[in-house]
Amino acid sequence: MAADDRNAFEVYRDRVDRPLGRLFREYGASEAHWLVIGMVANVVARVAGLLPPVVLGVAIDAVFTGTGPYTLPIVPDALLPTEESAQFRLSVLLIFGSFIVTGVFTYIYGIAANNFAHRVMHAVRTDSFDQMQRLDMTFFDDKQTGEVMSVLNNDASNLEVFLDNALQNSARLGVMVVGIATVLVYYNYELAVVTLAAIPLMFLFTLWFMRAVEPRYVAQRSVVGDLNTALENALSGVELVKTSNTEAHESERVEDASFSYFKRTMSILRLNYVYRPGMELLAGLAFAATFAVGGFWLANGPPGPFSTELTVGTFVTFVLLTQQFVAPLAEVSNIIDQYENAKASCERVFGLRDIPVRIEDDDDAVELGGGTRSDGGSQGDRKTDETADHGGVRGAVEYDDVSFAYPENALVDPEDADEEVLRGVSFTADPGDTVALVGPTGAGKSTLLKLLLRLYDVTDGAVSVDGHDVRDVTVESLRSAVGYVAQDTTLFDGTIAENIRYGRFTRIDDEDEGEEIRERVIEAAKAAEAHEFISSLPNGYETRIGERGVKLSGGQRQRLAIARVVLQDPTILILDEATSAVDTETEMLIQRSLDRLAADRTTFVIAHRLSTVTDADTALVLEDGEVVERGTHDELLAADGLYAKLWGVQAGEIDELPEEFVERARERHVDRAVERATAESEVESETLE
Ligand code: ADP
Repeated sequence: MAADDRNAFEVYRDRVDRPLGRLFREYGASEAHWLVIGMVANVVARVAGLLPPVVLGVAIDAVFTGTGPYTLPIVPDALLPTEESAQFRLSVLLIFGSFIVTGVFTYIYGIAANNFAHRVMHAVRTDSFDQMQRLDMTFFDDKQTGEVMSVLNNDASNLEVFLDNALQNSARLGVMVVGIATVLVYYNYELAVVTLAAIPLMFLFTLWFMRAVEPRYVAQRSVVGDLNTALENALSGVELVKTSNTEAHESERVEDASFSYFKRTMSILRLNYVYRPGMELLAGLAFAATFAVGGFWLANGPPGPFSTELTVGTFVTFVLLTQQFVAPLAEVSNIIDQYENAKASCERVFGLRDIPVRIEDDDDAVELGGGTRSDGGSQGDRKTDETADHGGVRGAVEYDDVSFAYPENALVDPEDADEEVLRGVSFTADPGDTVALVGPTGAGKSTLLKLLLRLYDVTDGAVSVDGHDVRDVTVESLRSAVGYVAQDTTLFDGTIAENIRYGRFTRIDDEDEGEEIRERVIEAAKAAEAHEFISSLPNGYETRIGERGVKLSGGQRQRLAIARVVLQDPTILILDEATSAVDTETEMLIQRSLDRLAADRTTFVIAHRLSTVTDADTALVLEDGEVVERGTHDELLAADGLYAKLWGVQAGEIDELPEEFVERARERHVDRAVERATAESEVESETLE
């Protein structure tokens, strides 16, 4: 299959069909009552707004010039006063009243329309966030975080603007056009023809505008993505940018992207500035024609084919109502702008929604350990034999002929996987064992362990814990049974204590519980050799770290990560040994706490230090995705293979990996490339047949 270099997000976005319709079905329906209340209130307010010109016209004829009767549409004449001063008072009252009704209903409409728009926006935002959290790592490997941020922020806001402003403005426009036309036709259908002749022209003009502007919006959207990517790259890679002196290059990229965005936006605006005044001109023409024809009519009687009588009052009503057209018509281009933005945003929202969630609990997934996870004992009273109770999880791990390839653009086509980075990996670890993973960079050590955490699913074979395939147990029970200490720890903006209990006691519901947890946090910190440095901080465990607080050293961060895992009390432990240098004392502290942590757990450690391997029960040596050697340190040294060479390099006995290893890796790559090419051509010839 041809490589598709669009990311999953773009692919699913392009597949979204009728996004706004879907928005109403999926989100609008449950809030429809707000929309209905808003629309009704809006219509009432606008209709009431038509009353003053009508009343004024009637009053002019009946009260001031005495040329006509005092009649109002809909209202029976019998209810209306016959005396002029009473008619005047009623007119004043009606005009006042209509403004009050307009005010009250505009208020109701505002509340209801905003409720509708904001409730939908809230639901879209939280659903999008939840969906984002369900997506597997493949999605995030593609570095689409900027896009997700944009969905959660801009797109949700765009929808809100559309659902509030654009919808209501269109309703208002509809009411004005229909309402005004009805009144005009009612009072004088002949003059109404003159006034309303502009409407079909406006309609055609709007149609032309929408056709012309649509492709420009599409073009604008495509450069927005480029601009975001340029900004995001420069921000997330700021360290690289600085150290490689590429500020000028990055500025140029942002400048280019920003400039094309500017050009595309201007091309939309240029059309807008033809459309807006064009509409105003048409409305103005309608007004001028009404004024000219009506004025002539008043002075000389019905012109040309016309035959009805025109009074001054009706003329005034016509002129005032024609004026009222102009404002809502000027809004049309805004409505279109908001509509286009909302459509694009909606596509992105549903594009994100439609990306399949691949790592999810099966319907019949079981709890690892039978769901009897205890609250975990403190470090002190932990039993150190293999039967230590970890909520029923024993911690036997088995890899059975596991192969794995990072899915390249796998969201587009899961079959379209990249080169395998693990091939035929098999081993077992008994409860409590420590397994060291050794091998050159890129050999697949981290990948191997990511499969145990089920950050990805194997392409072939199976990973199991206590005899359960990890795909058959709930993700939650699996991940709470597996603790992970990364090389570089993520700490959140919050206090030290919050960071330590993150994931285990993320929320504390009551005071008593809080006190107990505080103690356990301290105990965990002590076990992680972190208590001392924490106590020396200005506010101890309540010291803020992260963006708005103190910065911690790598060694300190790592000990917090260890404390976090101590508190989690998992049966299985994954350690990514730090390669970055810390001072000897810190290293000793970290080592001591890790030893304690690993004592009775099944532990996998990506080993960078020799002592780690010598202490392990067994070591797996990975090369290029395969386990090439296994055994204890002594056995491996005796075998005199890759391990012995790696160890030689590290111990400074030899300078670099012997050429034969490099050569072997190279050959494997070539072999596999040939294999793949053969397989592909076989598939092709099969499909041809
Ligand atoms: P190690 O931990 O032994 O250094 P890794 O497991 O990190 O090795 O990497 C094994 C191979 O997988 C490397 O070729 C690496 O480039 C590739 N790789 C690692 N992470 C990803 C990823 N998220 N997406 C695609 N390829 C990856």
